Amino acid sequence: MPRPSLRTRSRKRRSLRMPGGSTKTHYKREKTSVSRCSRCGQALSGVPHSTPSELRKLTASQRRLERVYGGQLCHNCVRELLKQAVRSA
Ligand SMILES: [Zn+2]
Repeated sequence: MPRPSLRTRSRKRRSLRMPGGSTKTHYKREKTSVSRCSRCGQALSGVPHSTPSELRKLTASQRRLERVYGGQLCHNCVRELLKQAVRSA
């Protein structure tokens, strides 16, 4: 019987054959949902949506775009906000 925290169906199960011939079940968290723009809700491209432990293994530039508000806002919203800022300045 797996430990209580693994008895949930929110974890993906994968049965693996071990080198000794026995089979073992490996548990994996499901992928998180796609990152979305906080202003318009459009799905952000260039931002991986994997488990937090896998995201931590990536470098900062692989986790988000190297743009102002990269990883928070989509390109259209950044463009509009920059235009507004320039025009109001
Ligand atoms: Zn947006």
